[in-house]
Amino acid sequence: MEKSGNRKSINEFGKFGLVNHLTRDVKPSNKSTITGVGDDSAVIDSGKDLTLVTTDLLLEGIHFNLIYTPLKHLGYKSVIRAISDIYAMNGTPGQVMIALGISSKFSLVQIEDLYEGIKLACTKYNVDLAGGDITSSITGMTIGVTAVGTVEKNNMVKRNGARANDLICVTGDFGAAFMGLQLLEREKKLFIREKVTQPDLSGFEYVVGRQLKPEIPVSTLSELKNKEIFPTSMIDVTDGLASDLLHICRLSDTGCRIFYSKVPIDYETSRVAGEFDIDPMTPALNGGEDYEFLFTIPLEMIETIKTIESVKVIGHMTTSGSGCFIVGDDGSEVEISAMGWKE
Ligand SMILES: [Mg+2]
Repeated sequence: MEKSGNRKSINEFGKFGLVNHLTRDVKPSNKSTITGVGDDSAVIDSGKDLTLVTTDLLLEGIHFNLIYTPLKHLGYKSVIRAISDIYAMNGTPGQVMIALGISSKFSLVQIEDLYEGIKLACTKYNVDLAGGDITSSITGMTIGVTAVGTVEKNNMVKRNGARANDLICVTGDFGAAFMGLQLLEREKKLFIREKVTQPDLSGFEYVVGRQLKPEIPVSTLSELKNKEIFPTSMIDVTDGLASDLLHICRLSDTGCRIFYSKVPIDYETSRVAGEFDIDPMTPALNGGEDYEFLFTIPLEMIETIKTIESVKVIGHMTTSGSGCFIVGDDGSEVEISAMGWKE
């Protein structure tokens, strides 16, 4: 096997040396982090709040492709993915733990890049990197992220609290990350087939950015709190708007009606969808990885919710057994399915 200087230096560190090296500048900033990296387990003082814990596993070739995913972005996104689930419970993330499987094909510089992204997301969202594990892998890279957060007992929002007539609200817009992925896949094929090394992604910054470096709309969540809007149910949209809405309906035992023309789609998403000859509503409903929030609120909050510009009301909940439908501009109703919505 070929040996490079960088590859050799990872081996020289050894596991604990590598952990120490990568986390040498990590200092806990949250009061609840009693002990972070360096002991057998992280110690979190949860006091009278509820502690939330969630974990995500990302596998090379399944969840990410290193041909077009810079490692710094991958590290960033892996943290976003985990802490998004804490925010979806109306909680605040405090700590993440990273479990990493790496093969010898990676250099120290590459793993440092990955950690740079991890630490950047931690700093931005005020989360402490509180521990983890690193082991060697023969099947590519594996990233496991566990996020820990807290929520006051009375403030937790689950998926099962929606009631008939509640308004269905969303933050942001949908389908962009999926169209970004289609563009990156197209460039990858050009690279493999025609050895085009300079990807042409100009004019597509929004959709590619939504795929590679998603952000969580935390300011909108704070605005909800400030205006005393308490969701009856909430989920982060990672599987696709349709599928995540159906989760809420199933767990809350409700039906729903959402309106075709109300689903927010960015202009660039529509333009790229047009290039690929697909209806932009398809990625908007089924694309996933939007990292936006879908939540329900009581009907009487309608005037208050209209004052938050980054939130759109896309429909309402209906009684149990009345089905889940998307309503077209002409009034036609099409059943929403997790497999996708078809005209
Ligand atoms: Mg989730």
